[in-house]
Amino acid sequence: MKEKPVMLIADDVEINRVILAQFFQDEYQIVEAANGAEAWDIITSQKVNIVLADLVMPVMDGYELLTRIKRHDSYASIPVLVMTARTDADSEVRAMELGASDFVTKPYNPTVVRCRVRNVMARLENEWRRVEQIAKDRQFCELRRHVELDSLTEIYNRETFYRKAAERMQAAKQRKFVIVYLDISCFKVINDLFRMETGNLVLKTAAYYFKAMVGQEGIAGRMEADHFALCMPKDRLQIEQLLKGLDSTMKSLGISHHVLFYAGIYPVENTYLPVDQMCDRAHMALNQIKGNYMHRYAVYDESMREVMLEEQMIVRDMEFALQERQFCIFLQPIYDQQTCKIVGAEALVRWNHPKKGMISPASFIPVFERNGFIVRLDRFVWEEVCRLLRQRIQSGGSVTPVSVNVSRLNFYNENLLNYLQELVRKYGLQPELLRLEITETAYTENPRQLIEMVRKFREAGFQVLMDDFGSGYSSLNMLKNLPVDILKIDMAFANEVDTSGRARVIMKAIVNMAQDLGMGIVTEGVETKPQLDYLAGIGCRNIQGYYFSRPIPVPEFVALCDREGA
Ligand code: C2E
Ligand code: CA
Ligand code: CA
Repeated sequence: MKEKPVMLIADDVEINRVILAQFFQDEYQIVEAANGAEAWDIITSQKVNIVLADLVMPVMDGYELLTRIKRHDSYASIPVLVMTARTDADSEVRAMELGASDFVTKPYNPTVVRCRVRNVMARLENEWRRVEQIAKDRQFCELRRHVELDSLTEIYNRETFYRKAAERMQAAKQRKFVIVYLDISCFKVINDLFRMETGNLVLKTAAYYFKAMVGQEGIAGRMEADHFALCMPKDRLQIEQLLKGLDSTMKSLGISHHVLFYAGIYPVENTYLPVDQMCDRAHMALNQIKGNYMHRYAVYDESMREVMLEEQMIVRDMEFALQERQFCIFLQPIYDQQTCKIVGAEALVRWNHPKKGMISPASFIPVFERNGFIVRLDRFVWEEVCRLLRQRIQSGGSVTPVSVNVSRLNFYNENLLNYLQELVRKYGLQPELLRLEITETAYTENPRQLIEMVRKFREAGFQVLMDDFGSGYSSLNMLKNLPVDILKIDMAFANEVDTSGRARVIMKAIVNMAQDLGMGIVTEGVETKPQLDYLAGIGCRNIQGYYFSRPIPVPEFVALCDREGA
């Protein structure tokens, strides 16, 4: 029989150890310690696969234990989950910086604890698999340098850079180091305009220059494509000179296109932080100035760290939040301003976080759009809307169409239409009750595919709305090619119609054009009576905005519809 992995539970309160031991005794061989010092003795004398450690303990606390584990090469890879009090966000952040894999809050919720442990172990397994794969790959390589060096530029590749940089920083702990992350602006243009050899020449020259610049004390690596990273003592870095020298080196290649490098700098404070995370931070600083031609470099600071930690928390919690139904929908009614009746609504997602309360989508939607989770969240929202519509029909209440947001990532899924058709069939709904809002960025990215999808949606009976119309650059052009049923005019226009003559002119032109093209209009973001009056004057009847109602929870929306008679 396969031996069970060993879990070490370190907590000074016996009852806590007993509870946790009960959760895991089937899957793990449990070892207990009453403080950090006992735990450390165990770790150094026997095999341990995972540690659950309380932060507050006598003799040696959880921070010290964590620091020791992560500092020691032989134990650093053991995942450590720390246990914190429910309200203690600061200690979570501190523990995370020291290398904790995750947290568990007290009092323990068995499902959460099990889920977290399982996630951590799954991550570790993936990591092992990756390491194993790399080791296997290495065997196939005749020469060690093939594994360590980037084949094009012959400086360190990403993996080697991570390893060597960590070694270098550990070997000279008394010195302060920086990580510099560099990226060429519009490298793609160079590849498009010139032959591939030219692009390669640029990369090789840059690598050569970086290697010379960091000298004996530093390290240079190529991370991917046109991204490079340097690790060097802080007092040796003169970033402006470095960039200037790089500019003239690039000029000397005689390419008729400016090759400009941009840099993000992370001053290393904690040398135990994994180097890939240091690079992420430097990269994050770099992203702040991308497309901003006034600045060539940026230094990572606390505010960026907070954004990153916030993002990490969001990513960590999202799966569980969806399982636990922490996401819910709010509905914002759309009114016909002539009759003052509700003619529709938009479903807007909210995250009811157990610690942070109601979180607005502005903080998590962009994160989910980056990591793809938005596709699942959107489906959750659509289903919630369908369920609500079904209930309204069944209870004999009035039913108006509800719009849902369809994030651009959905359009990469060929089965999207099937999925939606199945969904409305499952709830016995006419497709026109579920309106689909798409934004124009989706069009800019992939016009042909989007046009095709929209055509199919409409053929299948769904109504398609163009969200945030007028906020992008290509609105008019897009309208010519992409027939939609309804334009949702961006909030910025409604906001300005009572103060800006230009906004009024544009607004009126959009309304006329939409009418001529036989499209409906919804105006978003209407907050005041003068705005409403102006819109009435030019024939905009359908209004969504705080003037009538903010987005409200479902029961309130249902009560409102029953009261006002939609
Ligand atoms: P959106 O689709 O343009 O939604 C309209 C946003 O404007 C909502 O913000 C709404 O609360 C706000 N709003 C409505 N009337 C007014 C007004 O009179 N004044 C002002 N100042 N604001 C008003 P919310 O709920 O914070 O949503 C923000 C954005 O998050 C949405 O913009 C949408 O892009 C995204 N989002 C929300 N829910 C979902 C979802 O389920 N899926 C996807 N993919 N995106 C969503
Ligand atoms: Ca929308
Ligand atoms: Ca909108």
